[in-house]
Amino acid sequence: MKKSTMRIQTYFRSSGRALAFIFIASVIWLLFDMAALRISFSDVNSRLTKYEIIRKERGKYKPREVMSSASIPNKKDQFPLKQNERNGESKMQNDVNKDTFSETNRNPSRKQKPSVKPDKPVWQPGLNTSLEEKHKEKRKSNDVKAFSTAIPKKTNMSPNAEEHNKERKVKLKQKAPNRENTIVIINRDNNAVGKVAVPVDLVKDFTKVHPVGQKQELHLNRPDKKRVLVASDAQSNKADEKRALEKVEISPKTNTDDSVRFGHDHGGNDVIPPKEQVPQDNKEIYPKTENNISKAVENVNNKSGKHFKSTFLNAMTKAETLNVHFTLPVQHHVGTHKVLHVDATQSPRNPNAPGQFGEPGVVPKDKEMVAKNKWKEGYFNVYLSDMIPLDRAVPDTRPSGCAESRVHNDLPTTSVIMCFVDEVWSTLLRSVHSVLNRSPPHLIKEVILVDDFSTKEYLKDHLDKYMSQYPKVHILHLKERQGLIRARLEGAAIATGEVLTFLDSHIECNVGWLEPLLERVHMDRKKVACPVIEVINDKDMSYMIVDNFQRGIFKWPLVFGWMGVPDEEIKRNNIKDSDPIRCPVMAGGLFSIDKKYFYELGTYDPGLDVWGGENMEISFKIWMCGGEIEIIPCSRVGHIFRGDNPYKFPKDRVRTVERNLARVVEVWLDDYKELFYGHGYHHLLDKKRMDIGDLTQQKELRKHLKCKDFKWYLDNVYPDLDAPLVRSDDLLFNLGVRKCLSIENSTLSFQVCDLNEKNQHFNHTWLRLIHQQNLCLTAIDKGTVSLEQCDNAKHHLRWLHKSLILDPPFMDHLILEHLQQPFCLEGSPSGNTIKMATCNSSSPFQKWKFTNYYAQ
Ligand code: UDP
Ligand code: MN
Repeated sequence: MKKSTMRIQTYFRSSGRALAFIFIASVIWLLFDMAALRISFSDVNSRLTKYEIIRKERGKYKPREVMSSASIPNKKDQFPLKQNERNGESKMQNDVNKDTFSETNRNPSRKQKPSVKPDKPVWQPGLNTSLEEKHKEKRKSNDVKAFSTAIPKKTNMSPNAEEHNKERKVKLKQKAPNRENTIVIINRDNNAVGKVAVPVDLVKDFTKVHPVGQKQELHLNRPDKKRVLVASDAQSNKADEKRALEKVEISPKTNTDDSVRFGHDHGGNDVIPPKEQVPQDNKEIYPKTENNISKAVENVNNKSGKHFKSTFLNAMTKAETLNVHFTLPVQHHVGTHKVLHVDATQSPRNPNAPGQFGEPGVVPKDKEMVAKNKWKEGYFNVYLSDMIPLDRAVPDTRPSGCAESRVHNDLPTTSVIMCFVDEVWSTLLRSVHSVLNRSPPHLIKEVILVDDFSTKEYLKDHLDKYMSQYPKVHILHLKERQGLIRARLEGAAIATGEVLTFLDSHIECNVGWLEPLLERVHMDRKKVACPVIEVINDKDMSYMIVDNFQRGIFKWPLVFGWMGVPDEEIKRNNIKDSDPIRCPVMAGGLFSIDKKYFYELGTYDPGLDVWGGENMEISFKIWMCGGEIEIIPCSRVGHIFRGDNPYKFPKDRVRTVERNLARVVEVWLDDYKELFYGHGYHHLLDKKRMDIGDLTQQKELRKHLKCKDFKWYLDNVYPDLDAPLVRSDDLLFNLGVRKCLSIENSTLSFQVCDLNEKNQHFNHTWLRLIHQQNLCLTAIDKGTVSLEQCDNAKHHLRWLHKSLILDPPFMDHLILEHLQQPFCLEGSPSGNTIKMATCNSSSPFQKWKFTNYYAQ
């Protein structure tokens, strides 16, 4: 009895255990399933949110209606007569003059600082103690500890659930006959976030929309589960640069991941299609990321593509089971966190140190002379800079809401690239420390200092030794002077972060500066994010807040400046001061860009020398070739704006900058380049005087990238710019003859004015040519007026009219520019002939009027 009772008990106990085990196992299974589901949903949701945000933002900035040339008001009565034109250039248009532009800005060798809030040091003198208290409190609440605990985990998923999910994702069977696969869309963590059915033929389309350089990969899994990477996005610096100029090809990469196989599969088949078998139409490479995805899915759904020819695919379809994985680019959403408040500056900080908290510093009375002598070392108060702590605090100048704003947990890492030539020791170090101290360490892959062949001894071994304390800081000493543009490229070539962040070597990064920049790049790899550049005063080294809502623009002739976003635009679009601002041109020194995208864009034109124009070049390239430039108000970086360059230009400075600009203009400005040359740069058209070098590669690049034209840029990105293609046009009326000039059978004559008569239409161009089609008006000598083929470089085709260099009585005259003595175009009283004559201010036969005037 006892025995049998025990057996029963044992039986029940063990079967109870088994039952309990089964029960628990089911619960765990269920939980895993739920976890996986939840993750898929949250991924999908957050993705939606992200794209929704971007779409919403794009919608906000509908381009303004652009004035058609017909609606451009006739400005003939508005000529200010006070200013003289130099060199044939005209006064700048005054529509955007209210901002930081002025005639003195014309010097192409300086960039302007943004307008600062007047007389508003962030912390007023006299408030020091309480502010320091306040600061201490702030520091307590936002300390490094808070940062370390706040570092987001890579994923919300438990490791088990992750494993489980991995298992789930490969459930695709495909038999060769029906030639259809299911594509599982997985994120970077290998989590399945969706799946679509796809005919094998269409796999091509995935490669087609695969943007080069994107972390977007098409994997074909062999039955043996070995993963084969088809669309490669290898990046190997120089090679990558080169590739940006080539057709997109499915090509092998010498990679890394040991599950990736190239050359041959197990059966000895070629796994990578030979180049010539890549379909020729496989070139479409730069559509928007989110479009790619929807387009891909759309293609898949339509099942419309039919021509995949790759031997590789054929080989693969012979396999019994084919699993296809399409890895999405930045689809890995594992949540967000509040922007980290990292400010690991020295503690206890000396509140009384000069320049502490960004306040103005004062040079002791007895050191003023020394300070004055040191000015030229950097063209700012070098002596004072040396007195200021290398890790001084600066006020948190972010607009309200920034500290609370959220960024994704999986932001890309960045390589900070700082080029310098003969930088002042203390400013260079303060720049580096501000990066190290105020950036989340896990996001800084490295700081690359590129020494552009400095001449100062302290920037060699001494700097190397100092920086050896900081393992993330690498120094590249260039063997010869490259100039800022090529120096940056040298830095980029060795960068290993996913994003490149370029900074000047006399900056101070403010708290929370980095994450908002990386966030934008992460959201859309074609966004190029610039911090708000604040002003470190060159005299007292104080950190000054700049006005909100400023964007980088240019005026003719490509002079960079800042312009406030008009109030009505702010109201109309309900723009908050923390919202990103679309920016027609970046200032140049400070920005973050996806590294692969930078290479896809063909980087900078390496033919640009030393300094200048590179910001225009990269800005036009970004906008016209599908990207965007934004100023991110939640990211603030102080910069010392200097009155002069403290380094030497190997060649003449003005000529170097002019040459750079001419390169940019020739590649990017289309017909609008005349506006540039016509504003004081006529001389650059003379090839004998200026060799701007070979531009074939740059022009090819623009073609290859299928970039939009400059008109598109003006209409959509910078509609505020007044950019009439000609000075004046349509009929050319003679006040004495009271008829209009016309060309009949290649000769000039007068006709009764008729706007419908095309042979009465003339343009007066920015280069001062008067032409009808390609025939230009000229005079061989003072007597004979003739027509000849237009050529912008030819001086004898240029006519002054309504020009500010003319005395007011001659404003309506047409005066040939190249003749020593002023000769004027004159109609004969009979109206039969046109000749050149000595200028006479009162003769109506020498006075002319175009139908439209667009500029002075
Ligand atoms: N720079 C350089 N090589 C050059 C000229 C400039 O490496 O030939 C560096 C310079 O030290 C600075 C950055 O490029 O860190 C931008 O130059 P700068 O500050 O003179 O330009 P700005 O801010 O005045 O536009
Ligand atoms: Mn600078």
